[in-house]
Amino acid sequence: KTWPIMGTETGARFWLDDPNFSNPTQQSEALKAQQQKAQELLELVRQEMHRIDVIYSPYIGTSALSKINAAAASTPQLLSQEFAALVDKALWVSQASDGAFDITYASVGHLYDYRNKIAPGDEDISKTLPAIGSDRLLWDRKNRTLAFTHPLVKIDLGGLAKGYAVDRGAEILRNHGIKHGSVNAGGDTALIGDNRGRPWFVGVKNPRLTGKEKNWQEQQVLKLPLINEAISTSGDYERFFIDEQDGKRVHHIINPRTGKSSNGLISVSVFGPQGINTDPLSTAIFVMGVEKGLNLINSIQSYEAVLITDTGKVLYSDGLVDPNAN
Ligand code: ADP
Repeated sequence: KTWPIMGTETGARFWLDDPNFSNPTQQSEALKAQQQKAQELLELVRQEMHRIDVIYSPYIGTSALSKINAAAASTPQLLSQEFAALVDKALWVSQASDGAFDITYASVGHLYDYRNKIAPGDEDISKTLPAIGSDRLLWDRKNRTLAFTHPLVKIDLGGLAKGYAVDRGAEILRNHGIKHGSVNAGGDTALIGDNRGRPWFVGVKNPRLTGKEKNWQEQQVLKLPLINEAISTSGDYERFFIDEQDGKRVHHIINPRTGKSSNGLISVSVFGPQGINTDPLSTAIFVMGVEKGLNLINSIQSYEAVLITDTGKVLYSDGLVDPNAN
């Protein structure tokens, strides 16, 4: 079953234990009860993801994020514990990626409108670039207040909120006894256990589909067998348009140094224990490029990455390389 959050389709799939019954009447009762349990669990996951969407969406004017964006340049804003934990995580990734991932990217990022094919001009970019950078955030962790040190600062948690949302969805299912399942939100998936004795196969989409691919199988360049992990993919094909003037692809992953779409890599997948880490790490590596990106992922235990360059080269982090292969 799917529902929309943060501009993408979201869904959950899971196995319930086989029902117990000893005669046909009991069988239909047991199946009915199972169906009801499945519906209830899906509804719990949907509600939690909707809650997250409503708080952190930049598209909803009344979201906590929008209110902070409107007010934090003039007065410090008190954040909820959950919001504070997301800001802490974002600041950690920003530091680890030397600013390639930075939630203040939105100071420029929010000037893009992909649906209507609008990109800011160079003048607007130079005016707003000084509003990007972690030092534009005055973050008082103890009192949980956030203020902006430049009038044009905007933040956006789109680089980690979906990873967090799939973690939360998976946590809810686990707490209700689910041992085999997956929760998906666009490019982010959290897996619970295995697919009843087999790994889950999560695909890395071919970033340059021709449109002739007949099915899911043909659309993937790789399929990763994963168990009990989260995986996030950042790609330049998810939200983009082609600039009519210079034919360049304008997409949703912004290099905070230039205020423009990041180039070099066209797809980065990161997998490891938690979606709240895989989501911002895939965006960070996308912006950092091959060398720095691989160095970053190789320095983080339990997380691996697959990178695809604009020339179609596929690169792997050290944990995925066979040490005996030459
Ligand atoms: P999605 O699954 O939403 O496509 P990605 O992992 O590809 O997510 O991350 C892209 C999202 O991250 C963008 O939609 C935007 O909200 C946010 N983002 C884009 N560039 C940056 C950046 N340099 N730093 C932090 N967040 C970013």
